[in-house]
Amino acid sequence: MFDHGVMDAGMDAGRDAIETPLAVHGATRHPVQNPAIWIRLAGAWRPALIDHWRPAPGGWLAWIHHPTIPGRSGPWGLYAYDPATIRQRLSHLPPDQWRRTCSAETAAAYQWGRGGTRKWGEPLPPAPCCSAAVSQAYVVEGALVCLPCGHSTTIT
Ligand SMILES: [Zn+2]
Repeated sequence: MFDHGVMDAGMDAGRDAIETPLAVHGATRHPVQNPAIWIRLAGAWRPALIDHWRPAPGGWLAWIHHPTIPGRSGPWGLYAYDPATIRQRLSHLPPDQWRRTCSAETAAAYQWGRGGTRKWGEPLPPAPCCSAAVSQAYVVEGALVCLPCGHSTTIT
């Protein structure tokens, strides 16, 4: 459900997640592998949890528990999955604080050999984009790409 390949650090359409009326009764409930998310509601990113997925025409809906927001009905809602408004929560930093650039020195700390400053076997530092834990990092076309977050950080 999360397509990391299309998520870009800093991509922020500035719109809210779309709540869907509870009209999908009987839809199959699919378990969630990565329940922790950021959801954009009332103009800000909120930490939230997905309880389950439901298939819908043209995409997926998620039954989500989020912080109570004044003026809204409650802390539960059914939302259309959209990577612009619902992101996997790998980091304590909300998506609007993710960075799009890093210095060559920073990028070097993720590489070993050929100009990298990382020593073999040394753990990788947190991602410069979103501060998530990093399992692998690559330099591709002048950008540092970290996994599992999948963000691309342009090396300046
Ligand atoms: Zn990241």
